[in-house]
Amino acid sequence: MKKLALHWQILLGMFTGVVFALIMTNFSWGAEFVSDWIKPFGNIFINALKLIAVPLILASLIKGISDLKDISKLSKMGLRTIGIYITTTIIAVSIGLVMVNLINPGGTIEEDTRQELISSYEGDAVGVQANAAKQKEAGPLQALEDLVPSNIFAAASDNGNMLQVIFFAIFFGIGLILIDEKTAKPVKDFFDGFNEVILKLIDLIMLFAPYGVFALLAALVVESPSTDLFAALAMYALTVLIGLALMIGVYILLVWVFTKNKPSFFINGIAPAQLLAFSTSSSAATLPVTMERVEEHMGVHKEVTSFVLPIGATINMDGTSLYQAVAAVFIAQAFGIDLTIGAQLGIIATATLASIGSAAVPGAGMVMLVIVLAQAGIPEAGLALIFAIDRPLDMCRTTVNVTGDAAVSVMVAKSVGMMGPPNVKEWDEEYAKK
Ligand code: ASP
Repeated sequence: MKKLALHWQILLGMFTGVVFALIMTNFSWGAEFVSDWIKPFGNIFINALKLIAVPLILASLIKGISDLKDISKLSKMGLRTIGIYITTTIIAVSIGLVMVNLINPGGTIEEDTRQELISSYEGDAVGVQANAAKQKEAGPLQALEDLVPSNIFAAASDNGNMLQVIFFAIFFGIGLILIDEKTAKPVKDFFDGFNEVILKLIDLIMLFAPYGVFALLAALVVESPSTDLFAALAMYALTVLIGLALMIGVYILLVWVFTKNKPSFFINGIAPAQLLAFSTSSSAATLPVTMERVEEHMGVHKEVTSFVLPIGATINMDGTSLYQAVAAVFIAQAFGIDLTIGAQLGIIATATLASIGSAAVPGAGMVMLVIVLAQAGIPEAGLALIFAIDRPLDMCRTTVNVTGDAAVSVMVAKSVGMMGPPNVKEWDEEYAKK
């Protein structure tokens, strides 16, 4: 029998997870059973992916940068990468703003419904608001200050900071370029081999993916709050979803224009990473798979993916920025606040920055939303309003975040002549030159 492709296996895992959970909710002991006996396997899967993320970033970024040989190539690719990342993020926020103004989802919210929503989610929202308060206290240069770790092990720890790990890896890689070649060689060889081992581990972990997502979705279904609240916020969710779908369209178009390959090249190439992003809500956890797909199925050179994708997973969150724009305006609409054009332009700036600052983990975008709200003078209590449906939207925006990273890596690769033929594991120098 022909083996089912991985993304179909993952889809099947997700679908059966939901169905299984719906059946279990009919039994009084069902939810507890899923939490005790099914959910841990989902957590194990996520842990395994996170486990691989830090060594992967270290190995691939150090290797990627030291392979660049000269600093000028690095700065050329770096500038291009950051430039395209910021451009796509601004496009995303703008799409979000246009959609939320056109659809006006908050305009339909009645006073009673609003009060009911806020009071029923007050408890849950407290934690979010406490986190959010911390974010607000930060000074203007906090993000820059946070970039440089004082201890690499603390940065790489569970409560650490991926950007700091990236900073260290880039710094180390630059050092490796600057020392003489003979001394650098064994260090480079080590990271080459280390990188190969990590990629193999990812293959092994992915064998477990269909079961992992089964467990994750089953747990999500039995633990989610009552469905009529989802209905009250459906218009808002729909606005976010339409915006996200448009953004995916923008990527497909951009990749098509850049590579002249059929859209299916990109759509099929990225699908497994998208499904994983959807079920884990974490760009960081998805990173290993994104890298594998872009390298081995789209033909982007390792030098590009190892540089562009880890940075993208951390700072390029187009789905998140789009969502933040829609959420901010939706809350304003719901509270009856009229936002001026100036305030909306301000949202473009703050949502871009807030998405860059969001960690690539579930729910991070919602915490950073407070910066956007504070800047635009929108009440932060509004967070309670959108709390209920944040997780499903998180799943969708993470999918877009990951798709955006992949699209940009293809564009950067094409623009620096480092794009080989799709679905070929060997690098093809001649093809890339064409
Ligand atoms: N979960 C998102 C991500 O990892 C971040 C967010 O909450 O928007 O990409």
